[in-house]
Amino acid sequence: MLYKGVAFSLESGLPPEAKSLLEDFRLAVNNAIRAGLQARVTSRNALTRLAYRDFRQDHPGMYAQHLVSAFEVAASVLKNHRRRIRDCANSRVPYVRRLVMKTENQAYRLDRSEGIIDLPVRAGCHVHLRLVVSRYHRRYLDDTSLSLGSLTVLLDRVVVAFRKETPRPFDPASVLSLDTNERSLDGVFASCDDITVVKAYFPDVARIQRRHHDRRKRLQKKKAHDRRTSRALCRKEGRREHHRIDHRMHHVANAVLSFAEKHKAAIVLEDLTGIRHNRSKEFNRRMSLWPRRKLHQIIEYKAQWNGIPVVKVDPRYSSRRCPTCGRIQDSRMGTVFECGCGWRMDRHISASINLLQTAISGGLEVAGGLRFDPGAFQHDVMMTLYEPAMAARSEPNGTSCVSGVT
Ligand SMILES: [Zn+2]
Repeated sequence: MLYKGVAFSLESGLPPEAKSLLEDFRLAVNNAIRAGLQARVTSRNALTRLAYRDFRQDHPGMYAQHLVSAFEVAASVLKNHRRRIRDCANSRVPYVRRLVMKTENQAYRLDRSEGIIDLPVRAGCHVHLRLVVSRYHRRYLDDTSLSLGSLTVLLDRVVVAFRKETPRPFDPASVLSLDTNERSLDGVFASCDDITVVKAYFPDVARIQRRHHDRRKRLQKKKAHDRRTSRALCRKEGRREHHRIDHRMHHVANAVLSFAEKHKAAIVLEDLTGIRHNRSKEFNRRMSLWPRRKLHQIIEYKAQWNGIPVVKVDPRYSSRRCPTCGRIQDSRMGTVFECGCGWRMDRHISASINLLQTAISGGLEVAGGLRFDPGAFQHDVMMTLYEPAMAARSEPNGTSCVSGVT
């Protein structure tokens, strides 16, 4: 089962009854956390047994389903707390401050055509939340193959989880093999009769990272006398950085995926988990992996949602091995990969060919088969799957590619 959380703004804020429901919910969560800590239990059922009756006495009107959800939230908070303690990180006694409430699909009703949520507060009292529905939201509301999961209510918005059965990935007719770099995805698109260089650029991601890094440094210096403010401001910077990068990565992923969907291509990516950089701190920051991991996460998730096959392969030696003769070079420096056998290629593209070969030897099958002849490889033609200027359009589709000559 796949889940997709979709956030909706509320047309006229949260009514006071709902607000007090959020407060009651928070109280129930915190009570359950306290009870769980005292009795050393973390499972939802145990918490329910422990705290249900007491809370029921204090809040006789609260809808029972909400109370059960509160215990579930408390259980997950406690589990995280216990994990942090086990990992020897210092973890303070957990306490939920935020006004947020989660409830399962039995406990609310959503009118999908009108966009109205009917949420019971207590016996005989329901609130109606009118959602702001855009075209993006319509896609989810009108898709009858999606069922409803949990509902999260916050002060200014609600998040509805839509669910669907994991679709079976299609049988690929071609492959899009991509090497993930700091500023771009570089790779090849290979079908049974052709192989072309493809690129998707995201140069502003590295720039954003650098700018926010500098800003944090400056803030730390300026607020050196006030650690608390400094930390709060830095956190805010970090959040903004994440949002900005996330947004761009979504655009890149959408372009890649719509291309893959159109050409019935399987996507080959390197497995970034487990890769660590052990060089200088400055280098680590600049080469920070999280935007790339984030991009992979987005691509993988969206691909799964749309039934596009994704193959992750071990990237070992991918940037140092020659795709034609297999010799492994000592250094990974330079932008061009050159081998004694005569192979000469952009290093990133060469790496993506290695990824493609690893995927194929690992069992990736393509309808019609892939014949890869390095000699016939037309690497002077390049397709751009994505570049920032494409984001100016409302819907980058990646298919109206700009072809150019490198
Ligand atoms: Zn070679």
